[in-house]
Amino acid sequence: MKAISVLGSTGSIGTQTLEIVQEFPNQFKVVALTAGKNLPLLIEQVQSHNPEIVALADKSLLPELQENLSDLYKIKKLKKIPYLTGGVEGLNEAASWNQADLVVTGIVGCAGLLPTLAAIKSGKDLALANKETLIAAGPVVLPELKKTGSRLLPADSEHSAIFQCLQGTPLAKNASLSTGIPTPGLQRIQLTASGGAFRDWSTEDLKKATVKDATSHPNWSMGKKITVDSATLMNKGLEVIEAHYLFGLDYENIEIVIHPQSIIHSMIELADSSVLAQLGWPDMKLPILYCMSWPNRLKTPWKRLNLAQIGELNFRNPDTEKYPCMNLAYSAGKLGGTMPAVLNAANEEAVAQFLAEKISFLNIPKLIESACEAHKNDLKTNPNLDDVLIIDKWARRNVKEQVEKNQKSL
Ligand code: NAD
Ligand code: MG
Repeated sequence: MKAISVLGSTGSIGTQTLEIVQEFPNQFKVVALTAGKNLPLLIEQVQSHNPEIVALADKSLLPELQENLSDLYKIKKLKKIPYLTGGVEGLNEAASWNQADLVVTGIVGCAGLLPTLAAIKSGKDLALANKETLIAAGPVVLPELKKTGSRLLPADSEHSAIFQCLQGTPLAKNASLSTGIPTPGLQRIQLTASGGAFRDWSTEDLKKATVKDATSHPNWSMGKKITVDSATLMNKGLEVIEAHYLFGLDYENIEIVIHPQSIIHSMIELADSSVLAQLGWPDMKLPILYCMSWPNRLKTPWKRLNLAQIGELNFRNPDTEKYPCMNLAYSAGKLGGTMPAVLNAANEEAVAQFLAEKISFLNIPKLIESACEAHKNDLKTNPNLDDVLIIDKWARRNVKEQVEKNQKSL
């Protein structure tokens, strides 16, 4: 029985993780849950999973949570009241909860950074969905993994595909999982991209793209932020940096290919020219389950892939002019140090401004580019955690100020 902590349990990744636990009650149990502010769903999850600790990012909601759980306990709808805590310290406490074997990181954005580091510091293995954490703080996270021996198992579908394809290719001497040391046999990574909600849109149409348009993904059902990131293709750009930190390849050897059907989840090319791919229906439950069962495979009743039914699989190069976020990510990744943290934070803020209908879709990359430009002279090549946190705040402020200054034209 593996004990799981779920950070961001009320989100898309979190709820799918809990569904897996319910499907495999003899394999997994939940010991810790954390959420932002969705109390009704969190209360349901506590009832179903009886965790030992529950942490709420929004501390002010703790009394209400306590009251609701006490009521359920009194009428015997809850076996025991878990230890309740909140705020950043509370999230860190849940992330490093002693009884956990694996921490699933389903918090969205850089808000996941401190809990992720807390989990790593306590030596836990992680199922990494919260890519923003690694992108913003790769130079902080990787050394910490080496120090504690904690392992990052990739839950992002593309990185899970690469990880699955790499099973059987020996790691470098003295390397452990996901510490950025290149695997000797691995030559090239091809990340597949669905193309997002606006795959076949013209630039003219993109100018008028609404929040509703950008939050409807053709193949995957995900949280709002990552769905917008998929539409701008920043998600793929972030995944290039994520792949660099996880698998240690140079940026020249990490490529993006548009694959509208989302059946091949990514490919690797090995030294002898062999190309391996991992295929499956676009369903996040598979990569999450693989993190939970690795290195074993569990038998599922899930729908089997039928290639004849799909008929054909297509591929094409991405249009980097229409979707500039990919190149912004490559440039930030190559500069390294604090630049990916700026890219990530500027993107988070620009997407928030778009979702609040303060800016148009095509201004998302413009705001990010201008924040990255402004940071060039202050770039720190080997940042510590404080540097990352300061730069993250600075980049968000930079984007907000750009929006305030240019309100009419954005
Ligand atoms: P989501 O918006 O559906 O859920 C986010 C979760 O984080 C919620 O539980 C929310 O309460 C919590 N949260 C939000 N702000 C918080 C804060 N400030 N402090 C603490 N908790 C907070 O997001 P999602 O789609 O599940 O994505 C989660 C992460 O997984 C993201 O980093 C995303 O890039 C990554 N990811 C998601 C998918 C997917 O299919 N959804 C696929 C690959 C990677
Ligand atoms: Mg992905």
